[in-house]
Formats: sequence, C-alpha cells, structure tokens
Amino acid sequence: MKYDYLIVGAGLFGSTFARLATDSGRTCLVIDKRQHLGGNVYCENVDGIIVHKYGPHIFHTDSEEVFKFVTSLVKVNPYVNTPMAHYKGKMYNMPFNMNTFCQMWGVVTPQEAMQKIAEQSKCIKEIRNLEDKAISLVGKDIYRKLIKGYTEKQWGRPCTKLPANIITRLPVRFTFNNRYFNDRYEFIPDGGYNSLINKLLEGSEAIPGLDLFDAKGKVFDMCDRVLFTGRIDQFYDYRFGELEYRSLRFNQFTLDEENYQGVAVVNETWGGIPYTRRVEHRHFQQPKEPVKKTVITEEYPASIKETGEPYYPVNDEKNNAIYQQYKALADKEEKVIFGGRLAEYKYYDMDDIILRAMELWKSELNR
Ligand code: FAD
Repeated sequence: MKYDYLIVGAGLFGSTFARLATDSGRTCLVIDKRQHLGGNVYCENVDGIIVHKYGPHIFHTDSEEVFKFVTSLVKVNPYVNTPMAHYKGKMYNMPFNMNTFCQMWGVVTPQEAMQKIAEQSKCIKEIRNLEDKAISLVGKDIYRKLIKGYTEKQWGRPCTKLPANIITRLPVRFTFNNRYFNDRYEFIPDGGYNSLINKLLEGSEAIPGLDLFDAKGKVFDMCDRVLFTGRIDQFYDYRFGELEYRSLRFNQFTLDEENYQGVAVVNETWGGIPYTRRVEHRHFQQPKEPVKKTVITEEYPASIKETGEPYYPVNDEKNNAIYQQYKALADKEEKVIFGGRLAEYKYYDMDDIILRAMELWKSELNR
C-alpha cells in the first residue's frame, strides 16, 4: 500500500495533521515509537480515574478556531486551573494575586500589597538574572518562599544563573483571582485526551511501537511525503551536537481515599523536597462511578540522561544556534516536513500546536 503521508509521531501535532489531511482525502500512515498513541497528552484509566501520564494537561485557548475544531470532535468539560503552592506547612494561592499577598503579609488592599512589593524590591537596581527579575516583580518574601526552590529544582541551576525571561510566563495580579490562565476557553476532553486523539486519527492507519529509525528505508518508500514530529537533532544523527532538554520523572501511586489534597495541582516550592508538584488526577474529572481511591503523581525534574525523555527545551543562545543549523537542513528537504515541539525545538501549548498543524496543512495544500 502506498500512502500520501507518513506521519512520524502520533502526538497532538501529528494527529491533528492526520485529521486535516484525511478530511481532504489524503491517506496517512501514522507511526509512534511509544507503545501508545497520543504523545504527551496520553491518559490512562486507573480504577476509573483518568490519569494524565505525562504531566497535567489543561486545554486553554483564546482561539475560536481551535475551540470549534476540538469541540467538533469531542465533548469537553469546563475546568478552571487554580493550583496551590505548599511551603513548609503553609498553603498559598497561585498564581500570585491578592489572596497570596494576604496569606504572605496579611495585607488587605492592592495598595498595601504594591507598597509591600515596592519596599521589598527597591534593592534591585539592575535585572541581571531570574532572581533579580522575580524580586522586582513580587518582592523578597514571595521570591524566597514560592519561587526560588521551585525554579531551582525545575532547571537544576541557581536562579542567579538563569535568564530573567523565564519568569515572564508568571502572572502577577492585584485582584482576588486564583485563575491560572486568562484564556476565554479552558477545558479538558471528557474522559481525557485519548478520545480526542482517536477522533483525530480516525481514517488513518496508526501503528504504535514503531520507531522511524528502526524502519526508515521501509516506511519512507511507502509514502509520497513525510511529516516528522520527533527530535530534529536525532533526525540528522546529532551531526551539529545534541539539543539540550530538561526532563521529568513521575512517581505515581494510589491511595485508598477520595480526596487527598483538595485540588488537582499543588506546587512544592521548598527546595528541601525534591519534587516540584503533586497532582491528584481525580480533581480534573471525578470518576463516573464512585470509587474510594485517588491517584497521585509526584513530578521530579530530571536530567535527560536519567530518563531519556525530552520535555522542556533549553532555549538558550547555544542551543538555539545549534537548532538553526538543523533547521537550515530541514528547510532544504524535498520530501520531509517538520513540525511539533521536538522538531521545532520549542515549547508549545496544545492550542498553539493545533494552530501550527493547521498552518502546515494549509501550506501543504498550496504547494
Ligand atoms: P509529542 O506529544 O511529544 O508527540 C511527539 C511524538 O513523536 C511522541 O509520541 C513520540 O513518541 C513520537 N516520536 C518521536 N520520535 C519518534 C520516532 N523516531 N519514531 C516514531 N515516533 C517518534 N500544554 C497545554 O496547552 N496545557 C497544559 O496544561 C500542558 N501541560 C504540559 C505539561 C507538561 C509536563 C509538558 C511537558 C507539556 C505540557 N503541555 C501543555 C504541552 C503539550 O504537551 C504539547 O503542546 C503537546 O503535547 C505537543 O505535541 P507534539 O505532537 O508536538 O509532541
């Protein structure tokens, strides 16, 4: 059988592309080296509880197009992400807002909070690194208790050695609003993400457990074009060097109770505890049948040497320059196109991944 497309990687990017191609009458063969489809949005059912296997995934978007696309395929449940932070026995609201400032300092008005931050940040004259930036945004107390330990665990380096721009992702608000995301739509597909992936792959031939690099010659010949969503440095046999990633290790366990921590995500912000967050999955969606169990995952930052799994690209100057060398080769390819977080060496949220796949499909149609 000959296919129009070989799609390497059945994550959200490859699967969205497969849906668009199939809807336009193209045939797709989708392979993934993991034993399951879905990439990092894959979910597992444990005792009726939907477990986000590769870290908690909350879909949030301002894009009408993405929202319509997803909800045309699956039923979704509204979900509002309101994570908490734990530091040495005390709980704080995230992201930093009037509730956090009140818990930290006992202040009750935005003016008092701003004044406290101004007092605690006036020592910062120049932003040289993440520590300076964080103190300038929220003052010394919040930096010391809620940012320093978490960030240093996450990146495996002191905050004084991290670039300031990492922290721009962190919202700071002077209102009593615990919503983490500001987007118009926030939801999780009913039953988790597998139903979405199955819908996206309907009409394609999908083979889990097949690594391109074990079958390259064979599968390349079976198709006219290839979409590659794996690591771009691996595709080119690391000839310009390996692109750096931060990885994660997950410790999952089940407890015989229904509500362990009262919320889906608790960030552990003290440096003395090695995991960065604890996730209680049933708070994303309560099980359909009553079950006196709960599944917890502790998330430990790790080096890629420990796990072999790339999660967060380290987009510093050195790595971005290496990526540009790979991209220059990719741009010259005639049969192969590249897309997704690993092939583009960039962190993308799920909505951006869908938009990028839509863009790529449009450019395919215009070839
Ligand atoms: P992936 O899902 O990684 O898919 C790539 C696939 O390619 C993988 O399945 C891999 O096995 C396969 N592959 C690679 N190489 C080969 C090969 N040689 N042969 C065959 N197959 C191969 N986004 C949000 O919007 N909200 C969130 O709450 C959120 N939470 C996140 C939490 C964590 C911990 C992480 C790491 C990311 C989170 N994201 C979130 C981002 C989201 O996971 C990504 O946007 C999305 O999964 C990227 O899809 P992808 O298809 O590009 O990559």
